[in-house]
Amino acid sequence: MAETKKVALITGANRGIGFETAKQLGEQSVTVVLASRKLSDAEAAAAKLKSKGIDAYAVQLDVTKAADRTAAYKFIDDKFGKLDILINNAGIAPSANFGTNTTTGTTQQELRNIYETNFFSVVALTQQLLPLVKKSDAGRIVNLSSILGSLALHADPKSPIYSAKLFSYNSSKSALNAYTIHLAHELKDTPIKVNSVHPGWVKTEMGTGAAPMEIPEGAKTSVAAALLGPDGPSGRFIHLGEELPW
Ligand code: NDP
Repeated sequence: MAETKKVALITGANRGIGFETAKQLGEQSVTVVLASRKLSDAEAAAAKLKSKGIDAYAVQLDVTKAADRTAAYKFIDDKFGKLDILINNAGIAPSANFGTNTTTGTTQQELRNIYETNFFSVVALTQQLLPLVKKSDAGRIVNLSSILGSLALHADPKSPIYSAKLFSYNSSKSALNAYTIHLAHELKDTPIKVNSVHPGWVKTEMGTGAAPMEIPEGAKTSVAAALLGPDGPSGRFIHLGEELPW
């Protein structure tokens, strides 16, 4: 019998917003493939969801590694023959303070390191998996951006993020937003929807304990973008149902 359940792959699904997104999608009867840098982490995360009755699988996927991306493609192709939802969630930030502008001191190494995970790997993984997303009746691609990627808000002295100038991280998310716009445009005559989401400032390892938002709330925007109906938006930048300026 043909596979009718939706299948989602979530990168960086072992903890933080990624794990919670997998959990919430699983609770909505989506089959979830939890991808993680370490197979043991992916397996432990998938086991937690399986114990709640969720249909969950684990794959090893360091998004920066071409061999891992190919293996993930093969796993999904062999097992499901399609991919309905791709959540590009894995991301990194430098340990520097978001409130201290050190743009002139940003090293090439830091820029390349941050862009490798937050931008180049998203493009590479999406290109690798796109043939499987095209086999879905209603493919959805969700790119975990950040409000800190908004050029419009960074240029506005009155914006609440005006002082949060962390060049490497912020610009990697601006580049990711450009990818969302370009990919959505190329796919505009297909059923596939591509959106950037800002989860909010969320209490995770990256967000730190100072963040106001709890993780279940932080996963909501990703889940909503993953489950958009046929009339939903594409090529947008969304936070909790509201559009953000690019
Ligand atoms: P966490 O730091 O809690 O988790 C990051 C996840 O990404 C971990 O699972 C980590 O895996 C994974 N990861 C990092 N590098 C790689 C890699 N090369 N390959 C595969 N997985 C990798 O972050 P959050 O959950 O807070 O963030 C999730 C996304 O949301 C990120 O893209 C982030 O930029 C974005 N975001 C978060 C905000 C927040 O306030 N928390 C605000 C705005 C955006 P491992 O455990 O192996 O390190």
